Amino acid sequence: MSFHIIRTHRPGHQHPLVFRLTSGFRRFQHRWFQSLKNGQNPLALVIACCDSRVDPVLLTDCRPGDLFVVRNVANLVPPYAPDGGRHGVSAALEYAVKHLCVQDIIVMGHACCGGIHALVSGTEDSAQDEFIGPWVDVARHALEKVHEAMPGADDSDRARACELWNVRLSLDNLLTFPWVKSAVDEGRLSLHGWYFDLQSGELLEYDAEHQVFRPLVGRVHLGSARLGQTASSRRW
Ligand SMILES: [Zn+2]
Repeated sequence: MSFHIIRTHRPGHQHPLVFRLTSGFRRFQHRWFQSLKNGQNPLALVIACCDSRVDPVLLTDCRPGDLFVVRNVANLVPPYAPDGGRHGVSAALEYAVKHLCVQDIIVMGHACCGGIHALVSGTEDSAQDEFIGPWVDVARHALEKVHEAMPGADDSDRARACELWNVRLSLDNLLTFPWVKSAVDEGRLSLHGWYFDLQSGELLEYDAEHQVFRPLVGRVHLGSARLGQTASSRRW
């Protein structure tokens, strides 16, 4: 087997991206390296989307080592399937619950999610993509719920509703793992459903008792400008 390294710079002229990232890595080394090398004891497991705008560590102003993070397209949790397959989310979940003994799991959805948009618009089955369609199909039950409740809605409204339903679906799927269910039942583990509204800046939390999302952190204020629409409890 041979490896081909793409030459991205001439000697003495570092590639701009490499320069930017390695400059950041040097700052990280000075600030955090010493505190991280002896192991991890994260505060929580967070399951979030790959979207470059929704990094849970940055969004919550946490430090390296604070959060054990699983990111995938549309923050999905496939249900428990002990079939010997290559289940990346399940493996991370198992490690966090059984080995790191996290006491909280946060599913963090977000607005303007490309994965959910593909599912809602039906473009997940486009000819050029091989993996997006089968993956986001994990959330099809959420889409079916939205179709039932909002038969006349446009794609934009259905996408938002589906993003919120999908957080609930991921929470439900977490409970299909028997060792998650038992930990929750015994009070050793709490599940949280969050939704970052990229349009208003709000962070919403799912209230399972009343089946609504409520603001956990209100909208962002930039001077006198107010972004987005009115904050209120939202069913879904
Ligand atoms: Zn997303």
